[in-house]
Amino acid sequence: MTFAATILTLYPEMFPGPLGVSLAGRALGEGKWSLDTVQIRDFAIDRHKTVDDTPAGGGAGMVLRVDVLASAIDHARGLHPACPVLAMTPRGKPLSQERVRELAAGPGVTVLCGRFEGFDERIFEGRGVEEVSVGDIVLSGGEPAALMLLDACIRLLPGVMGAASSGTEESFENGLLEYPHYTRPAEWEGRTIPEVLRSGDHAKIAAWRKQRADEDTRLRRPDLWERHTGARAQPASGARRETKE
Ligand code: SAH
Repeated sequence: MTFAATILTLYPEMFPGPLGVSLAGRALGEGKWSLDTVQIRDFAIDRHKTVDDTPAGGGAGMVLRVDVLASAIDHARGLHPACPVLAMTPRGKPLSQERVRELAAGPGVTVLCGRFEGFDERIFEGRGVEEVSVGDIVLSGGEPAALMLLDACIRLLPGVMGAASSGTEESFENGLLEYPHYTRPAEWEGRTIPEVLRSGDHAKIAAWRKQRADEDTRLRRPDLWERHTGARAQPASGARRETKE
């Protein structure tokens, strides 16, 4: 099945962009995912093709018009009716690997990219749009955020990454950061590789990796660690999902 990505943007020329090369580019060529871009400006209703207007209540910048956005979304829904519609916005729910997995398992995504000050708020309820943030940063447009979301989904599509890296040990997959990696040379500028990794003792290596994943998560991401240990303490809550791989 082809994962259908539809991007609503004022800058369709930004796509596939970086997703046209490497893993994602090959997968696009092989038809594992498809890409449609929709130019929001095509849905403007005036002679000048205006997509934005001044903010109600005053203030700096311009806001994307709800009527123009709605027409663009309706058109995109016609292309892929089963795909959820997501809008990229710093006010949205932070994107998680769990949500990426759900999306990658579905028929595709339709992604609305903002510009200027963002969207007229009425679009979200009015068209059942999921608001998604890619972090507590402000981008100049939703396009890099959409590329990020797509990249994360595409690498999980069947046959894209190859069997060796099904991603089950990756950061966030079990609520932890991944353990650190090393490769040759064994010594570099006086820095060595942890001895255990060269021991050939697979049980010891696994234990070391588990310990480092725990420790690094606790030190670097106390928020993840708290959730992880909390979830372990109350397994009956069903808050954690077992993956089948
Ligand atoms: N005035 C808005 C920011 C607008 S930035 C605010 O303060 O919340 C312009 C566009 O960039 C947004 O509409 C959105 O589509 C995109 N964008 C910026 N930061 C983002 C983020 N962290 N996550 C997802 N999209 C983002």
